[in-house]
Amino acid sequence: MATGKIGVTTENIFPVIKKFLYSDHEIFLRELVSNAIDATRKLQTLFSFGDYKGELGELDVRVTIDKEKGTLTVSDHGIGMDAEDIDKYINQIAFSGAEEFLAKYKDNANNIIGHFGLGFYSAFMVSKKVEIRSLSYKEGAKGVQWVCDGSPEYEMSECDKTERGTDIILYIDDDDKEFLEQARIDTLLKKYCRFLPVPVISGKEQEFKEGKYVDTDRDKVINASEPLWSKKPNELTDEDYLKFYHELMPGLEDPMFWIHLNVDYPFTLTGILYFPKINTNLDVTRNRIELYCNQVFVTDQVEGVVPEFMTIMQGVIDSPDIPLNVSRSYLQADRQVKQISGYITKKVADKLEKMFRDDRPAFEAKWDDIKVFIEYGMLTDEKFFEAAKKFFLLKDVNGKYYTLEEYRTLIEPEQTDRESNVVYLYTNDKTAQYAFIKGVESLGYNVLDMNGQLDQHIVGLFENTMEKSRFERVDADIPERIIRKSDDNKAELTAVQLDVLSGLFRHALPEIPNSNVIVEFQATSPDAMPATMVQSEYMRRMKAMAAMQHNNPFYANLPDTYSLIVNTRQPAVVRICEESAKALGDKIQPILDDIARINKEMEEARAKARKEKKDAPDLSAKEKEVDDLREKETKIIADYSSQQPVVSQIVDLALLQSGMLKGENMTEFIHRSVKLL
Ligand code: ADP
Repeated sequence: MATGKIGVTTENIFPVIKKFLYSDHEIFLRELVSNAIDATRKLQTLFSFGDYKGELGELDVRVTIDKEKGTLTVSDHGIGMDAEDIDKYINQIAFSGAEEFLAKYKDNANNIIGHFGLGFYSAFMVSKKVEIRSLSYKEGAKGVQWVCDGSPEYEMSECDKTERGTDIILYIDDDDKEFLEQARIDTLLKKYCRFLPVPVISGKEQEFKEGKYVDTDRDKVINASEPLWSKKPNELTDEDYLKFYHELMPGLEDPMFWIHLNVDYPFTLTGILYFPKINTNLDVTRNRIELYCNQVFVTDQVEGVVPEFMTIMQGVIDSPDIPLNVSRSYLQADRQVKQISGYITKKVADKLEKMFRDDRPAFEAKWDDIKVFIEYGMLTDEKFFEAAKKFFLLKDVNGKYYTLEEYRTLIEPEQTDRESNVVYLYTNDKTAQYAFIKGVESLGYNVLDMNGQLDQHIVGLFENTMEKSRFERVDADIPERIIRKSDDNKAELTAVQLDVLSGLFRHALPEIPNSNVIVEFQATSPDAMPATMVQSEYMRRMKAMAAMQHNNPFYANLPDTYSLIVNTRQPAVVRICEESAKALGDKIQPILDDIARINKEMEEARAKARKEKKDAPDLSAKEKEVDDLREKETKIIADYSSQQPVVSQIVDLALLQSGMLKGENMTEFIHRSVKLL
């Protein structure tokens, strides 16, 4: 028997291990099973090199609970350790056998799960005593037993072990009795060991007998699932990928597409990422990518390893190069991890581009489902944006898809304004904006269907990155004006006509909560609507932006500003204009003349004072006179207006067309319409 002190620099390392090393105590099992698998793989490697000439035999790893003794044992039939090995690998904590082994078999031992740092010692997180019983594969080796109760002292002695391999026996702490429950162990093994390359056995298969589940004598193999990602893509069929997907993510629909990752340089990484079918824009579940290190599950918290927009993908990433037992912030700052993230972005973009080029109709059929993902990627990742420009699709209201380049070529001839901006017209609600869509279509313009959750943001991104381009929602102006090509057809109205018409229409506008409406006149076509309600793209975006900045009450409370554009060529408007000017001209003209005269007098008085370098004259009496005259004018028009239901009708029709006629205003409109019948 030999006793000794474990070669650690600090006496107190065990409490540290117990408390702080790993936040999750449960991972001790992952560490021990990984070591067992490593030992097994090492033996296989030695065997294949002819450095081990014995029988391989059964190579499974077993996890056994003995409730009476209070032990949990992890056994393997791997290379085992002799006294010298234990001294070297176990007693000298920082000495990783895996690293030494790797150095020797560098090019062929890709699958050694090392790099877990203090893996073995994590056993002390849950144990009051740990025992190792091992028999090395080396010829003539003697069984060796090592016992340590969690203090830096250990005992090592020969033992009667006759089977090659290692048993790690944990005497479970009173606080950690949960690890003596088969169900708990099953859960952990399923979580961490599901895809391990060596069979892992724990407990027995059960069957239903006489009203309850009972153990059979068949061993329960935990990792029956095949780690598909470790195979070569060209050896796999679509069915293989789908089957694997459903094993990983039970109960989900088939995925939209998948990407098999496979890289050796500058880091090693394999994996399969699936793009799930997203049924609604909001149905985005994260944390569905599992991170593995040589087929050992590490975590499903992959922030920082894959770009954020890709966390809606599902699947597995396996890389021995991802530092594992470190905090997440460290993970995100890691240079290698950043490279991995960049690589995955590129792979996903490449795959999408390939899908687009290989089978465009199929890509278009998927587009509506994957669009939100691609837009999110473009908005958050510059590199992805650049790559995605090649396959990003715009869809028009007729359901036809175009690349950005194709679409520009399509609309450039007709939809370029007088400042040489190409104007992209879009709708976010085909039904509500139907009249506007038809209006611009009749002018030969094309309208994009952009009703996606992120479309508003993508519009901004495109405007910022595309030369001479502008996006306008179809209801941002009347069709004739939405793409301004030459000087507009200004309405030609006399002063009386202008005053009377504006007064009439302003008066006929019902109260719309939290809104301002400006009345404008435009000579459009006689066939066009008599009046149209629009909200400029600029105003609408200001409001939308304000709505997103919840903490900015100034913008959020800003009223909506609309324009009521009256078509002075429309026959009904022409008639109103003529009739009202005729009916009111005699009363209004003298008022306008008076106002003009007083204004002139005031201007002269100001000019005189300026010339004589005197203070500005007091004109408040004259100002009041003008106000009174205006009021008089307003009253005359208002009185007249109340006998002009057609004006109200025109205004209400404009509101109706824009979906703004509601409640009481709607009822009034209906009553008036009935009366007009
Ligand atoms: P790591 O696995 O990172 O090297 P560990 O502390 O888990 O660190 O293990 C230290 C070393 O002990 C291993 O590299 C290996 O050489 C040896 N070892 C641990 N468990 C076993 C085992 N079950 N069979 C053979 N050797 C083992």
